[in-house]
Amino acid sequence: MNRQLFLLNNAQTSSSPRLLEIDRAEGNYLYDPQGKAYLDLVSGFAVSNIGHRHPKVVNAIKDQADKYMHLTVYGEFVQSPQVRFAQKLVSVLPGALNSVYFVNSGAEATEGALKLAKRYTGRGGIISCHHAYHGSTQGALSVMGNSYYKDAYRPLLPGIGFITFNEIADLEHITQETACVIIETIQGEAGIRVPDKAYFSALRKRCDETGTLLIMDEIQTGFGRTGKLFAFEHFGIVPDILLLAKGMGGGMPIGAFVASREKMDVLKDNPILGHITTFGGHPVCCAAGLASLEAILEEDLVKDVDKKEALFRELLVHPAIRKVRGMGLMLAVQVDAFQQVERISKQCLEGAYPLIIDWFLHCETALRIAPPLTITESEIRMACNAILAALD
Ligand code: PLP
Repeated sequence: MNRQLFLLNNAQTSSSPRLLEIDRAEGNYLYDPQGKAYLDLVSGFAVSNIGHRHPKVVNAIKDQADKYMHLTVYGEFVQSPQVRFAQKLVSVLPGALNSVYFVNSGAEATEGALKLAKRYTGRGGIISCHHAYHGSTQGALSVMGNSYYKDAYRPLLPGIGFITFNEIADLEHITQETACVIIETIQGEAGIRVPDKAYFSALRKRCDETGTLLIMDEIQTGFGRTGKLFAFEHFGIVPDILLLAKGMGGGMPIGAFVASREKMDVLKDNPILGHITTFGGHPVCCAAGLASLEAILEEDLVKDVDKKEALFRELLVHPAIRKVRGMGLMLAVQVDAFQQVERISKQCLEGAYPLIIDWFLHCETALRIAPPLTITESEIRMACNAILAALD
């Protein structure tokens, strides 16, 4: 009944939705209306880093809902959940990233950051990477590195160039006309591509030489997913603008672009209200985000990510697996064909130990492994057994 209504009245994003109906979710599991449990190996696409319905987050939401929900547009009233969350975020980021602009999603963080870079530098050029994904709105779509998803929606933003991710020779395309380079710290939808440290050093240097702002998209990599709180920490560089969303809200919708106060201040005048949003920094989402970040830090959820990655890598060995790519709990299991990925995902869903597993927007020949950071060793073992059985 619900499925029919879903197909009838809810807008569809493809003609083959997974149609799994979920009644509730808790910790590392989702439950269907019959009570069948599914281990979550996708985390709602890198959102549920601390698991589903973490009690600290649920309590923070209830407490804030008892005080107030929406009051006014972002940036006018002093709302303590925004103040406290921004202060906490700034405390875990490098000193140069001390001003947080809260928005509602990853794509909005991308939009805000692109505007800030153009406004701050007075330049129009934007450089992105082939196979990049930064969201689906017009500006974010313009910097997507895959024409298949863009061509039907042209014209998009002008002045955008594309370089190859992790290719130092291509950095010469960054010039004094380039306002910004927007780049994922680890490319997610491309099928988890980890760049070399030398690449990011060279990119940072080139941006500094040309006065170009470096926007690093940590929407998928942030909040502990790669074994550090933010993935740029692996590479020894600091972006000019940092993009956050997904795992930021402990399951609630929130995003942010973060820069220095000096840069962010250009949005204040000439024109006034350079970027505005009604719901950005929603107090309930900020309360949830703060509770989620506190849970990550207090429960030291990042500490064992490397060990869990190693266990996945040790167990995921099979003649059909070409490679396991990635970092931390952001992994891609490379096979040969989409048919295999589709079959394995379906079998995993229907197996004796049901698993939710998926693939990537720009890489349909790899399985996505992005469980909550709270996944246990025995759950990893059972999940890998189920995947290997499906591969057989
Ligand atoms: N940037 C990256 C790296 C993403 O993976 C995504 C979403 O998958 C986005 C941006 C867009 O985020 P949202 O779907 O919240 O707009």
